Parts: sequence; C-alpha cells; structure tokens
Amino acid sequence: MSVIVSRIRENEKNRIVTEGKNGERVALVTGSTSGIGMAIARRLAEEEFTVAFHSKSSVVVGQSLAEAHPGSSYFQADLSDQTQSRNLISEVLSRHGRLDVLVNNAGISTTIPHASLKEASPEIWRSLYEVNVIAPWTLIAEAEIALRQSSRSERPSCILNISSHAGIRPKGASIPYSATKAALNHMTKLLALSLAPQIRVNAIAPGLVDTPMSKDWTAARKLWEERSPMGRGAQPEEVAQIASMVVANHYLTGEIIISDGGLNLT
Ligand code: NAD
Repeated sequence: MSVIVSRIRENEKNRIVTEGKNGERVALVTGSTSGIGMAIARRLAEEEFTVAFHSKSSVVVGQSLAEAHPGSSYFQADLSDQTQSRNLISEVLSRHGRLDVLVNNAGISTTIPHASLKEASPEIWRSLYEVNVIAPWTLIAEAEIALRQSSRSERPSCILNISSHAGIRPKGASIPYSATKAALNHMTKLLALSLAPQIRVNAIAPGLVDTPMSKDWTAARKLWEERSPMGRGAQPEEVAQIASMVVANHYLTGEIIISDGGLNLT
C-alpha cells in the first residue's frame, strides 16, 4: 500500500467533520472578490455550497460577500507567497472542516507585444509563473488529502483551473502569460490522471471576459466583436455557468473547456 493511500485511510478513520458546518459541501474559489472568480463563487453559493471567498487584498469586499452568503467565509492570502498559499488551505479546513471543490481562479497578466522579447524579463516570467502555475500547484498539493477525504464514489471531489484560450492558441496579452496558461492546462491533464478517481480535474479556458483584468484590452475587444461568431466577449456569469456545470457533473475529468464565443473557429 502506498504511503498516500495509507495516510488517506488513517485520515478516513480520524475524519474530524463528516459534513460542512451547514451540512453542505465546501468550495474554495481563489481570487473571488472580482471578475470571473466572484461570479463563480456567487454561483456556487447560490447552489449547494458553503463558499470560502479569497483575495489578495480586497478585504472589505471579501467580508461583505461572505456575510451575504450565510455559512460562507473570507480569507486573505497573497498567493505569490508559498507560506500564505499553504496557510490558506489549512485556514479553510480549520474553519469549515472539509473541502470538496477547489477553483484555482486567481491569476495575473502582463501585456507585452510578442515581438518585444527583452521586455519579457526573467522577473516577469517568474512573477507570472508564481501566481498562475506554482500557486495552483501548491494549493492542490495542500488540499489533496482533504479532497480525497470528502470524495465519494458517486460524487468525486473537484478541482477546476481557470486557464485561458491563450494557453491553447498562439495568442494572448504576452508570451509569458500565455505560457503560464499552457502550463496550467497541461498540469490539469496530468493531475486528472494521477488524482482519479477520487478527484476530478478540469479547466475552463476563457477567451475575452469582461472583468477588471481585461478593461484595457481594446484590441481584444475589437477582435471579438469583428471575428468571433458570437460577436462579443463573455460576461463573468457565463463562465460561472460553465463552472457550475463542470462541478455538477461527476464524470468529466481532464478536459480543457474553451469558452471563447467560437473565436477559435475563425
Ligand atoms: P480579475 O483581475 O478581476 O481577478 C483576478 C483575481 O486574482 C483577483 O481577485 C485577485 O485578487 C487575484 N489575484 C491576483 N494576484 C493574486 C495574488 N498574488 N494572490 C492572490 N490572489 C491574487 O481578473 P479576471 O479576469 O476575473 O481573472 C480571473 C482568471 O481568469 C485569471 O486566472 C485570468 O488569467 C483568467 N482569464 C481572464 C480572462 C479575461 O478576459 N478577463 C481571459 C482568460 C482567462
């Protein structure tokens, strides 16, 4: 028996809490005080989930979101800091006693023309990798045991990574940003294999979404209006609806779901 399996069995015996404090399943959504993350967290809270909201700095917004959804909570953590990333999972578990769904939504972007190679400095590469790739990895690694504990054969636990269409096609705000999202997509598939069947792992790869991150992306907005079959970018709630479907389905794993209004067809 592997070390991990014996640890899980030991933990099964010592399970602290069998249901969330409201008898509900618990979802942590990183970066959930704005944009796509907030829409996903609200949607899950309106469904059956006790939600742990999180952000790097918007404490007042996070606390008011948690207050608006009974049983929910808010945690502040800078995910570019490994210690804070690890603490985030332990704080969520000590507050709620379990974790069923982890949505790795928090991310950063930098706009650099693709031909300006020297502008994409090693510092920029490292900071993007830290938040967009290493932080999701750390959170998943820290949450693995809890996710396995809450998993049932008829209802596996769920990890959902928010990547980008730029991680699939040679597009995006900058080459380093796109490369981080390609890494996240590949990590999604690799983990889907190694964490199954207790934990499903999927990603949504949005195109343009109307959020604070994309507010200055005028060229992208024009591109979506002129070239995408749907003629516009997405609203965060439309991505949240896909997230809700991915969480609700108990069979889907290893999928990267492109949500770009059909731009990839043109
Ligand atoms: P946003 O700026 O509204 O949200 C980003 C969130 O990430 C914020 O809540 C912020 O607190 C959090 N965050 C950033 N750095 C952090 C750090 N160091 N520690 C902790 N949290 C941190 O933008 P959004 O558009 O909602 O982005 C959400 C996700 O969607 C990101 O991963 C982004 O790459 C991805 N995405 C967005 C678009 C788009 O067009 N908006 C397209 C494709 C993918």
